Amino acid sequence: MTNSSFMLGSTAAPGKRDIKKVPFVELFNDRLQGVVSSGSDIERVYVSFFAAESLDFYCSTNNNRPCGGLGGYPCKHLQTLLDEAIAQYGIEAVAQFLKVPGDVTRIQSTADIIAHKGTVKKEPAGEVFSRFLNYLRYLELAASHRPIPEMGWFV
Ligand SMILES: [Zn+2]
Repeated sequence: MTNSSFMLGSTAAPGKRDIKKVPFVELFNDRLQGVVSSGSDIERVYVSFFAAESLDFYCSTNNNRPCGGLGGYPCKHLQTLLDEAIAQYGIEAVAQFLKVPGDVTRIQSTADIIAHKGTVKKEPAGEVFSRFLNYLRYLELAASHRPIPEMGWFV
């Protein structure tokens, strides 16, 4: 991956999506999934997801090494991913997508969603990561300033 792709994130408005911290987040195939930058190592990213309905979760590096912060509870990457998904889609949409049980209107924070968490479900990071790389290709295209509908989540 190239650093130039990440640089585009610096143009994001403050208070909106933090693309440096979470370069990629999507609601896809019954999963809230995405790529979260390592807090300590700029070269490393984590691939994290929550499954809809079960709210099972997993976090690993893009090389499929399990995240050290994962101990039966969503690590900080998963929590950051959830925060960013809420910033991107709104908490109601995220809660509905994840099929959080109970009254969706009562879900008001990341913690309210995590309260319904499932268990650790080990899955290879490859599929999510390759989708992320595809999006990076869109970023390169975006430099031409032609509108691309899929880029809506950067606005
Ligand atoms: Zn993690």
